[in-house]
Amino acid sequence: YRAKENKDSFQFYASEMNASVEEKLVLLEGMRSALESCTDSQDCGGAACQFHLLYQPKIDLRSGRLFGVEALIRWNHPEHGLISPLRFIGLAEESGMIVALGEWVVRSACAQGQAWRAAGLPALSISVNVSARQFEEKRLVERVAQALRDTGLPPEALEVEVTESSIMRDLGRSVDKMRELKAMGISLSIDDFGTGYSSLSALKSFPISRLKIDKSFVSDLADSADDQAIAMAVISLGHKLNLRVIAEGVETEQQRAFLSANDCDEMQGYLFSPPVPAERIAAMLAQQPGAGELP
Ligand code: C2E
Ligand code: MG
Ligand code: MG
Ligand code: MG
Repeated sequence: YRAKENKDSFQFYASEMNASVEEKLVLLEGMRSALESCTDSQDCGGAACQFHLLYQPKIDLRSGRLFGVEALIRWNHPEHGLISPLRFIGLAEESGMIVALGEWVVRSACAQGQAWRAAGLPALSISVNVSARQFEEKRLVERVAQALRDTGLPPEALEVEVTESSIMRDLGRSVDKMRELKAMGISLSIDDFGTGYSSLSALKSFPISRLKIDKSFVSDLADSADDQAIAMAVISLGHKLNLRVIAEGVETEQQRAFLSANDCDEMQGYLFSPPVPAERIAAMLAQQPGAGELP
């Protein structure tokens, strides 16, 4: 995995992937045509569209309110059924297709966000994942701006999730790019925090508003003193840097209680809801009038 992120070790990576090269080529070709049908179809999201987005609620731990959602891509393959992003995002990165695919994700999420607003539902923050290659793309900022203009979603409603590893590939340029996004009104968060390689001095320079505690530190929170120490340290670090802290992968009441007791701001996880179709979000919001004021 690390080799994939280091351009110098391409040779190592290339031989590692030989075993399933054919499978990868087939998957890649499938991805290409799936994306084509998605961006071509008049009604994206219709039957012809193999890609779709699910949305996972983010909950404010103090008020219990749903204040935002994270858009997560799904691929419904005509033969293989539902394919996890863990299987195809890496391949989309290697092949460069992530740029076009990611643009589709951003546009679709913005369009959905605007549709919820147009339906009169309470304001929601919508976050999208941007992976390393996508983040390095010269035109990222321009493409995001264009998606906002075309859909009418206010930039304040959009959040971009990046990982530490993506940022650290070219720290200087990453920080510039984050500043440009922030200047547009978009907020930024660090995804999977604690699993990457950023230094604390780098963290200090990131124009972000939120840290996401990786779910690997949350899953054993009830039993592992180490994970408890890590979670508490991230929460206090985040607060001292004036950031909000959200825990991902919260599955149990015990985990929620620990996070609450330790002043974590927000949570996301199966305990409240798995990622769901847009209509389910609308229903949840409708049952919760006044929910979702942007923090
Ligand atoms: P992530 O951004 O860290 O997203 C969190 C993952 O945890 C999601 O997996 C979500 O479904 C899962 N999850 C949420 N709550 C729980 C829980 O309580 N327990 C457990 N065990 N898992 C939970 P998913 O949707 O399979 O996505 C996996 C990864 O794929 C994401 O990790 C993200 O890195 C990437 N990804 C997903 N959608 C996109 C996308 O549109 N663009 C890009 N570039 N990457 C994406
Ligand atoms: Mg994420
Ligand atoms: Mg995450
Ligand atoms: Mg994660």
